[in-house]
Order: sequence, then C-alpha cells, then structure tokens
Amino acid sequence: MNWMEKELELLSDASLERSLHASSSVSGSPGYTVRGEQVLLNLSSNDYLGLSQHAAIMEVMREALLTEAAGSGASRLVTGNRLPYVRLEESLADWQNCEAALVFANGYMANSGVISALIGRGDVVFSDQLNHASIVDGIVLSRAEHARYRHNDMEHLRTLLIKYRDKRRKLIVTDAVFSMDGDQARLHELISLKREYGAMLMVDEAHSGGIYGGRGEGLCHELGLQNDVDIHMGTFSKSFGVYGAYICGSRTLIRWLVNKARPLIYSTALPPSIVAGISKALALVQEENWRRERLYAASRLFRSSLCDAGFNIGASDSPIVPLIVGDNDAALRFSGALEEEGVLAVAIRPPTVPDGTARIRFSLSAVHTDKELTNAVARIHNIGLRLGVLSP
Ligand code: PMP
Repeated sequence: MNWMEKELELLSDASLERSLHASSSVSGSPGYTVRGEQVLLNLSSNDYLGLSQHAAIMEVMREALLTEAAGSGASRLVTGNRLPYVRLEESLADWQNCEAALVFANGYMANSGVISALIGRGDVVFSDQLNHASIVDGIVLSRAEHARYRHNDMEHLRTLLIKYRDKRRKLIVTDAVFSMDGDQARLHELISLKREYGAMLMVDEAHSGGIYGGRGEGLCHELGLQNDVDIHMGTFSKSFGVYGAYICGSRTLIRWLVNKARPLIYSTALPPSIVAGISKALALVQEENWRRERLYAASRLFRSSLCDAGFNIGASDSPIVPLIVGDNDAALRFSGALEEEGVLAVAIRPPTVPDGTARIRFSLSAVHTDKELTNAVARIHNIGLRLGVLSP
C-alpha cells in the first residue's frame, strides 16, 4: 500500500489533496454553518431556497420516523415500496406534467442508473464536457461510446452527431444549469439537434429544479420546452433541502427503468422519513414563490457586485457564482482567507473543474440578506486585492 502515500504526496504538492472538515448547523439560521469555534456565513451550500431547516418539513420527518420505521427494510421491488412512495411519485408526475415519475435514492444513483439502463454497447452518448460526474460515470457503466462535446458548443455536437449517425441508440445528456459554472444549457438548440438526428434527450435539473418555472419545475418548464425533453432528472438534496432524486417522463420510460435501472433494483428504498420530508418540500417548493423571487434578487446583487469589483465570474446566470482564480494554491488561499473573515466558500479544483480554472464556487440562498451579501462582497474584494487576484 506504499504507493498510496506517494500518490497522496503528489496530490498535496500540487495543492490538490482534499480533506473532510466537520461542520454543524446553526439552529434557525440555515444561512450559517459552524466550523470549529467559528460561525460562518455559508456561501457554499446548495440549500437554494433555504428549506433545509423548514419547521414543517422537519416535523413531518419526525412524525414519519416515530410512526413508520427508521429504515424501509428492503429494495422497492421487494417490500420497500411503501405507500408514501407511490403518492409522492403521483405528485411528482403531476408537478412535472409528465405521465409518470420514479424516485431514486440520490442524484448520483439516478444519473448513473438511468443512463446505463437506456443505452449499452453499440450505442452512443453525447455529453457536454462540463456535465456532472454522475453522468460521466453512468456513461462509463453503460459501455456505450462517450462522445464529449465542448461546453455548450452546438457545432461540435452536430459534428459528433454526424460522425456517429449510424449507431443503434443515441442519447444527448446535459445539465440544465452547470454545477460549477452556473451557466445554462442551450436547450432550444439541443432539442432541434435531437430531432434532426433521432436522439433521446435527458436533462439534469439538479441546480435548476425549485429555482426556475412558475412552480419550481425547472428550466425546461421555464422555457416552455418540457414536452420536448424525454428524460427529466432532478434532485431533492438541493432546493428541496432534503435528499433523493427523481426521474420524470413517459409511462414506458418509467416501466423500463423499474426493470432495468440497477441502483433502483439492487439498493434499499429510501427511509420513510426522507420520503415524507420530500413530499412536504414538494408542496412548499410549489407554493412559496417568494423564495424564488428572493433568490433571484440575491443572485443578481451578488453577481453584479463581483463583476463591478472586477472579478471573473465566467458566464454565470444563476445562484451559482464562480470566482475564477486559476491557480490551485491561490484558490485555497482565497478560501482560507475568507474563512478567517467569517465566510465559508470552498475552493473547487481539478479534476472537478478543468486545469487552470480553480475557483471559489459561491452558491446563494433565499435566506441570505442583502446586508450579509454586501458585507461578504466587501471582504471578498479586500482579499482579492491582497492576494493579487484583482489589480489595484
Ligand atoms: N447532478 C448534478 C448536476 C449535481 O450537481 C449533483 C450533486 N452535486 C448530482 C447530480 C448528484 O446528486 P446527489 O447529490 O443527490 O447525489
């Protein structure tokens, strides 16, 4: 096992070693996190709507825990498919205006399980270069050809669609909002291309579900494109503040996945308390529009303040705001300096992002106030000057 020490040393020398930090919640303040002795403004969580500590969600979870069970006891195809699962899936299909829905334990299992169920040897997946790792891993598991197109480059995608036009099945897959850049997929163009070349289209709404659309359905609905997308995927761990994931689409799709998606078939169903929490969160996501409005306002303020200060925030157009630093060590120092100033914003380095684009990834929440954000920007500005990320 000596090789491990050596490899880890190399990672550490390149400022690429990762480590786990313990943190805990501040009761009643989902915008803050405790690390060590310090209470930090949390600008790195995906709790976009601030639902992670919602009293009604926590109450139904507690109730389900006390009246049902701690665990579901088996996979859904065995005896784990409790009634609340069935009801939740009906509500999800209704919310997404699709024929049917299927809940997965988490987004990683949904993406990897669905992609590997839909395609196999002799097929091809066209995948944006910046898609989430769970999509990439699903493609590897599927054993299909992996045709990666340059980020949002539709001409490159077209070239690949032509190159692989004779493959048996074709799947185009994209994040709706890219998790490390906060920019949006070109859904209109992807739909035209999928039609032209006879491909299926799957959209991952992990960072857009709850945020876009009149009832938080996601970016496809916001743009009126929901009926042109074959496979809708989203998570309950971010805007919903709980845990889990869904796939929505046709009845045939869901029937296929129940038979073929291995993470669904061979893994234990989510505990009843989680399913209860998701159901409550789904109702709140649809009802509490003010959370979306507040999130948009907070995101606009934060993005424009960083731009005015002269930072490079890429093409962000969402609550995910990258501050691109470039160098790995500089990103770590930036994050460390922010923590000393009471702001938690983690450095994201390769391989999560391409080489030379290490960054601080800010993600905003409806619970952040203008005052908190303005104070944070003043600190970010000072640190940027001090570390030479900004020129005076
Ligand atoms: N897709 C995207 C775009 C994500 O950002 C994530 C989570 N980081 C996932 C899928 C996986 O979701 P989960 O955390 O529920 O496994």
